[in-house]
Order: sequence, then C-alpha cells, then structure tokens
Amino acid sequence: MSIKAYAAQAAESPLSSFSITRRDPLPNDVLIDILYCGVCHSDLHQARNEWGNTIYPCVPGHEILGRVAKVGTAVTRFKEGDLAAVGCMVDSCRTCPACQKGLEQYCETGGTVFTYNGPDKILGGVTFGGYSENIVVDEAFVLKVSEKVKPEELPGVAPLLCAGITTYSPMRHWKVGPGQKVGIVGLGGLGHMGVKFAHAFGAQVVLFTTSPGKAEDARRLGADEVVVSKDPDAMAAQARSFDFILDCVSAQHDLNAYLQLLKRDGTLVLVGAPEHPLPIAAFNLLMPRRNLAGSGIGGIPETQEMLDFCAERGITCDVEMIGIQDVETAYARLLKSDVRYRFVIDMATLKS
Ligand code: NAP
Ligand code: ZN
Ligand code: ZN
Repeated sequence: MSIKAYAAQAAESPLSSFSITRRDPLPNDVLIDILYCGVCHSDLHQARNEWGNTIYPCVPGHEILGRVAKVGTAVTRFKEGDLAAVGCMVDSCRTCPACQKGLEQYCETGGTVFTYNGPDKILGGVTFGGYSENIVVDEAFVLKVSEKVKPEELPGVAPLLCAGITTYSPMRHWKVGPGQKVGIVGLGGLGHMGVKFAHAFGAQVVLFTTSPGKAEDARRLGADEVVVSKDPDAMAAQARSFDFILDCVSAQHDLNAYLQLLKRDGTLVLVGAPEHPLPIAAFNLLMPRRNLAGSGIGGIPETQEMLDFCAERGITCDVEMIGIQDVETAYARLLKSDVRYRFVIDMATLKS
C-alpha cells in the first residue's frame, strides 16, 4: 500500500512530503496506525548524513506509538484497536547468542534491521521510519503499551521507545541504585529521561548542562544538584566523586572533563553519538583505574520491561507537540539545545 510520509531526499534538503510503500501484513505482522512519533537527535544526524551511511530518500522516526489497525493470521499478542509501539529495531537474525539473550541491537550476524535506513528484507531497498501514516512490523518487534495510560499521556510515552530505553538500559546494566552518585550530561531528550530514571532508581543525581536556564527544570525532573559545565570551579568541586556518569551529548565536547570526575573504578558511559571522534587523555583512565564504555538502545525484552516500569511509576517524557510541517524548525532548535525536552509529532498533521 502507498502511504504518506516525510522524507529527506539529500543531506542538504529539508524534509518534505513523500509517498512510500508499506507491505501488506504477512502472517506474523502487525499494521499500526501511527498517532505520535518522537523526534530523536539521531533522526537529525541520519537525515543530514552526519554518520556517513544514510541512504536517500530517508524517512526518520523510531519513537513510534499508535493503534493496531490490522493483524496477520498468525499474530497472537495483538488485536485490532490495541495500543502498540515500535522503537529503533524492526528485525534481527533472532538466532545468534545476542538475539537469543534479547540483545537484538547487538546481533552478532549483523542482522539488526533498524526502523529506518536498514535493509528491508521483504520489499527490498531500505526501511522507512515513523514520520509516516502507518508501519508494518513483525509482532516480535512490537511493544505493548498499557491501556491504563491516559490518552493525554500517550505523546509522552512515544519517546520512551528510544530516549527512554537508551538511558534505562545502561543504568540497569551498571546497576545504578541507592548510595551512588550519578551524573547525567546534557539535558535533552535522552538526558531528561536519564535524570528521571537515575532518580527513580534511588541514586544521588547531578545534572551537567551547558544551559544555565535548565537548572530549575532539572531539579523538577529529579536532579539533586545542577552543575553548569562551562564553570571550571563548579566542575573542579566535583572531582573524583562519581560512581557513574551517563553522557547524553549530541555534539563535540571534552570527555576528559567528565573522566576526571569519576572515583576509582567509576564508569563513564557514552550514549551520545557525535559526528566526530572525541580525544581521550590516557592518564584520565589510568589514574585512578577508570572505565569508559558505551551503550546502544536496548533489546526488545528490556524495552518492554522499561515501558511496564514507566506505566507502573507514572513516568513519561516531557514533550513539546509539533506538526509534521514543523520538523525542520524542531531540528534547528535541537541544534541550539532548545527543546523541553522532546519534540513529538502529532501524526494527524500528516493527513491535513
Ligand atoms: P538532544 O535532545 O538534542 O539533546 C542533546 C543535549 O546535549 C542538548 O540538549 C544539550 O544539553 C547537550 N549539548 C548539545 N550540544 C552540546 C555541546 N556542544 N556541548 C555540550 N553539550 C551539548 O539529543 P538526544 O535526542 O537526547 O540525543 C543525544 C545523543 O544521543 C545524539 O547524539 C543521539 O544521536 C544519541 N543517541 C544515541 C542512542 C544510543 O543508542 N546510544 C540512542 C538515541 C540517541 P544542555 O543544554 O543541558 O547542555
Ligand atoms: Zn533515537
Ligand atoms: Zn542475531
């Protein structure tokens, strides 16, 4: 079927209206009418080819929330009318050790199919994301959303599918919890969920920001302390005091400044994915025995666990709703660190 979408045709051209083809649901497929789609900074990196691997036309969007419109004959977990969500992946090899462990994002055969810009194994070409009317996904990669979530809260659920799981997963993996001092760097889409989760897990939370105007919001979101990272004295006062720091920054910045804030055996985890490499001074790792790591989104079982955790605790993302026609304005604002704290597209605007 041919449907409406928004696509980038080249790195330099603004996103605009575009028709794409979705497959008719196969026996295991779920067809989801998209209500809301979050705007991740990765959408911008990809649309502008900042990671050098974009295939055009590119339809971004991997924070997808909607209702099931149709199910294939073999689908067991969903029925027409259910709420459903799709994150950053729509398939993987499903048989390698990583996939067997529910870590499909780390599929060892290179089989992870990302929601956009991935190889479409069925139609050929590339996958198209959630800046579109609907999406067809194998039910194994479709997440359940609690029907207890109130309709007005649904826009704030969509960004959990990337910003939520990308911050939840490393904090679970490195066992963030009570008694720990945890830093979150950058109060954007990922960072604001990092603050909420670190607080929910019982850690002492310090937010590092380049935007002094975000301090009050950071405290409301769950930060115990806010440090403006451009202030050298404020940074020096935090030296060697952190167990864990989650770096959610989308652009070039100095990692050494954060390594110096870790205790012995403390860990700095990168989830931000800037365009260019970031230099590291070896001695910031050697003394006193610090760890530098990275983490990519989260697997399907953990994404479901995170959605259920959020539904139970009433955790959602703070969103600014936009129309699809405003996506370029939203990208421009992301580049100025001016979002509070995730843009979410009301997909009804695609029809108008
Ligand atoms: P975002 O909403 O644009 O937030 C990024 C934040 O970084 C900004 O709000 C700003 O916070 C800070 N920042 C921006 N430029 C900076 C600079 N030059 N120096 C220091 N701080 C700066 O982006 P996002 O959607 O949260 O995504 C963040 C990054 O994570 C992106 O690179 C994205 O591609 C990546 N990502 C990775 C994964 C993964 O699986 N690892 C998943 C999703 C996204 P302040 O105003 O508070 O300083
Ligand atoms: Zn994302
Ligand atoms: Zn695999």
